[in-house]
Amino acid sequence: MRFKIVKKIALLAVIISYSFACSSSEGTTSVEEIEEVEVTLHSAFAEFDTTETDIYLQGSNVVIETTGLPNHKTPYWSENHPLYVAPTVTSTDKMTPTRIDTSGRDNSASLTVPANPSKANSTSNTQLGAIGIAISGAFLYNDQEGNGPLDSAAGSLDYSGAHIGPSDYHYHLEPLAFSDDDDKLNGIISDGFFIYGRKCNSTGTYPTDLDSSGGHISTTQHTDIAEYHYHIINELYASTGRYILFAGPYQGTPNAVN
Ligand SMILES: [Zn+2]
Ligand SMILES: [Zn+2]
Repeated sequence: MRFKIVKKIALLAVIISYSFACSSSEGTTSVEEIEEVEVTLHSAFAEFDTTETDIYLQGSNVVIETTGLPNHKTPYWSENHPLYVAPTVTSTDKMTPTRIDTSGRDNSASLTVPANPSKANSTSNTQLGAIGIAISGAFLYNDQEGNGPLDSAAGSLDYSGAHIGPSDYHYHLEPLAFSDDDDKLNGIISDGFFIYGRKCNSTGTYPTDLDSSGGHISTTQHTDIAEYHYHIINELYASTGRYILFAGPYQGTPNAVN
């Protein structure tokens, strides 16, 4: 990955006001500081797989380019692929028919988000298709499958809570290949906020102050400054006995993953 050089935009507003009092020997000079806006690449991006993703600043935005391919084992690779593993939780007959490496499909995509995202005035619902990019390189999806709840497709999900729809390999559930009941970074949602596992580094356990999206403001392992981020909500999803990755709504403004 080529991390582009951190760009700094320093806006220096210096307001100097003089007040003179003729009767006084004291002239006062006050220098009002200084607003510095610094655009840097958030340190959490270092967790993304450097083979599958390419992440860089572009003005005040971050561009995340990905191959769309998971960097870990799954039965959704073809049997000849080095990352192929025989199905365990999922039986072969329940798997969807497509395989990642033989689909003939270009899975690459790009997401551009603000380097310093902020909450929108109102929330918005997630939609079908990619709603974010995982640290593995593959895509994050919500709790819906073909405009219905995930139940009917739950049997096709692999150990990492992922499968191939007609399109790309994507996660619906806690992605056990890289986050298993822990505080690890899972990826980035398309509104620019990061999503972490079920635990929060700020307390070492399950957060108790989450909003309806699984979000809250606290420090993480990636920042000493409290900031808004999502978690996988620690509530079992009935038909899977597992945890939904992200059902929304977006708290920020979603951007296209395409
Ligand atoms: Zn799906
Ligand atoms: Zn947290």
